[in-house]
Amino acid sequence: MACALLAGARAAKSEQEKSRPQRQPVTAERYEIEVSFQPEKSFLHARAGVTLRADPSLEAIAFELNPHLQILEVTDGQGRKLEFKRSGRLGSPKLSVRLAEPVGTRRAITLTFSYEGTLPVRSLDYITKDGILLRDESRWYPAVDLAAFTQNEFHIGIPSRWRAITSGAPVSSVGSGLGATYNWKTWQPVSSRSIVALPDEQQRCVPEPLKKDGYSEIQRGSACFIGPQQDSGMRLAARVHELLDRYKDLFGPYRHSETLVVAGFPGQRGAIGYSAPGFLVVSEDAVKFFDYPGYAPEFLPHEIAHQWFPIEVTLASQEDGWLAESLAEYLAWRYLEETDPEQARRMAARAMRDALAPEPLPPLGLGLRLFALENWEVTHATLYQRGLLVWRTLETVIDRERVDLALREYYRRYAGRSASIADFRKICEEISGRELGWFFDYFLSGTRIPEIEFRRTPAMAPNEVAGEIILHNVPPDFQVRVEMRLETTAGPIEHSVATRGEVTAFTATSKNPVTRIALDPDLRILRWTEAARRNRSQRALLAAAGGFESKDELVRATDACQKALALDQENLARNEQQIRFELGRLYYRMKEYAHASQQFAGVLELGSLDPMGTDFHRAWARVYRARIEKLRGHPAAARAEAQAGLAKRSPALETQVALPEAGGHATTAAAELRALTQEEEIPRRR
Ligand SMILES: [Zn+2]
Repeated sequence: MACALLAGARAAKSEQEKSRPQRQPVTAERYEIEVSFQPEKSFLHARAGVTLRADPSLEAIAFELNPHLQILEVTDGQGRKLEFKRSGRLGSPKLSVRLAEPVGTRRAITLTFSYEGTLPVRSLDYITKDGILLRDESRWYPAVDLAAFTQNEFHIGIPSRWRAITSGAPVSSVGSGLGATYNWKTWQPVSSRSIVALPDEQQRCVPEPLKKDGYSEIQRGSACFIGPQQDSGMRLAARVHELLDRYKDLFGPYRHSETLVVAGFPGQRGAIGYSAPGFLVVSEDAVKFFDYPGYAPEFLPHEIAHQWFPIEVTLASQEDGWLAESLAEYLAWRYLEETDPEQARRMAARAMRDALAPEPLPPLGLGLRLFALENWEVTHATLYQRGLLVWRTLETVIDRERVDLALREYYRRYAGRSASIADFRKICEEISGRELGWFFDYFLSGTRIPEIEFRRTPAMAPNEVAGEIILHNVPPDFQVRVEMRLETTAGPIEHSVATRGEVTAFTATSKNPVTRIALDPDLRILRWTEAARRNRSQRALLAAAGGFESKDELVRATDACQKALALDQENLARNEQQIRFELGRLYYRMKEYAHASQQFAGVLELGSLDPMGTDFHRAWARVYRARIEKLRGHPAAARAEAQAGLAKRSPALETQVALPEAGGHATTAAAELRALTQEEEIPRRR
């Protein structure tokens, strides 16, 4: 795709895709694990005892364990070696352990697995010389349910001067020659067995630890940062502390005495996060840029929301993902609405546009299964963006105060357990006194999207405005509150109408003539908007545009870009900057430098709904403008362009991209701009 709307300007991603139980009459209650790591070899050796409660008639138990780990032995509580069988399917983590005898009346049994192996390094699960992260999803321990609530006692062996962290509380650490062992223990069941470790770094906490008789004591409720970037890390810890307080007030108590924020994902760019009970692993960029205006502002409030949902109230099934990712995104939006309304507005506007881009729209009720079924773009548009909009729409059905009450009750009732969307629906119904099946059926199971229209009808009185609000694509029991803004010659009047079914008549009064009526001006309801429609048509057009290779392809792509621009002359979808950027690249490729320059000048003037995307395209427009000046034999002008580009110190300058015309190798706008400022000096030296 030469003229595409999928440029690599994305600033952030976050993951919390914990998959869910195989249904079997077994629950894990306790883990006692000794694990030792050889980071430079990506190797681990472990002995894991798991205590299970099982159905008395059970003769074999199904587990999952990463297929790269070789099982040396499985024994039961009496020390008997048990037969086990790995799944015959390549790459499958499944295995079955045959018990020496049925569980019988004992109910609780303990099996001990010895295993070892080299795990391939992945972006979210890795054992490397720069750090270790093993999420539950890595299946580094034998599991019957990756989100089970268990009591754990871990002994983690790592090189000396490293530090290991897991859920619970550190009991002790022992150094022995070249290695160290960190001992951790939980005081109440936790829903994860993830481990993170890193070459030892300082720790700083907010609030400051209390000094007591020569030692310092970390205060309860602290947020502590562990990692190399101590200054921004400290500011980030302060923000985490603030968010924890906020969510405590909203939902109820947080069960961990402190929250550790740990530097992880070495060498990876962008804002990446992983939340586990009592700790959060963040990438270098997420620390470095966290308070840069417009850089992934939803990232931290989203990650910290996970400490409540789904870490304390886990999901009953993958299909309940709306109660995890969508909810965290909604809570992040709520936080921004209070602290940075402009970012909140952009976040909602982006969601309203992009949530409806996938064609066809997958049901939101697929939940976490979307991660496996769709690419990241579609999953993000659906589970994160559309999911957020469904939460906001729920506010227009039962109102925000009741949404907050429902979440509080949901947490009170289910903390330490799993729950489903049906459980949450029941709470909403209790609190609102209304039957809400239609809402969940329509927005979570279905894929229809409402469209709201307004028809003015003759008024009965001189000061009256009368009309009908018409909702398309909705069932008869559909009810929302639609806000209206009546623009009058004496200023706007806010009005709201509770609709029922397809057509709802309304009247409002205004002393002054009404010049314009805006329906749902703050985009509170998930619905089709003109921006979403135009965005969808533009994408379809550009996706069909073809390649970047032959002259024919370039001409076709240019044509597609021009048509896409013509589809949205008012720039309602806010895609113009990106399309002009692609158009500029195409002209540049065709050596039509005057046309290219003109497009890049437009890119410098225009903005988008994503501040990092805006900066990214402006920076690259400077790169091309400098290249064009150079080709025209104007080295001073080229240098001036490059310097103007570098003057904006946005994180977007560090976004890695591989553009085909640059030989496809990964580079950043900053690197290209720096090279362009330096090239200038070569002729001068001669
Ligand atoms: Zn998440």
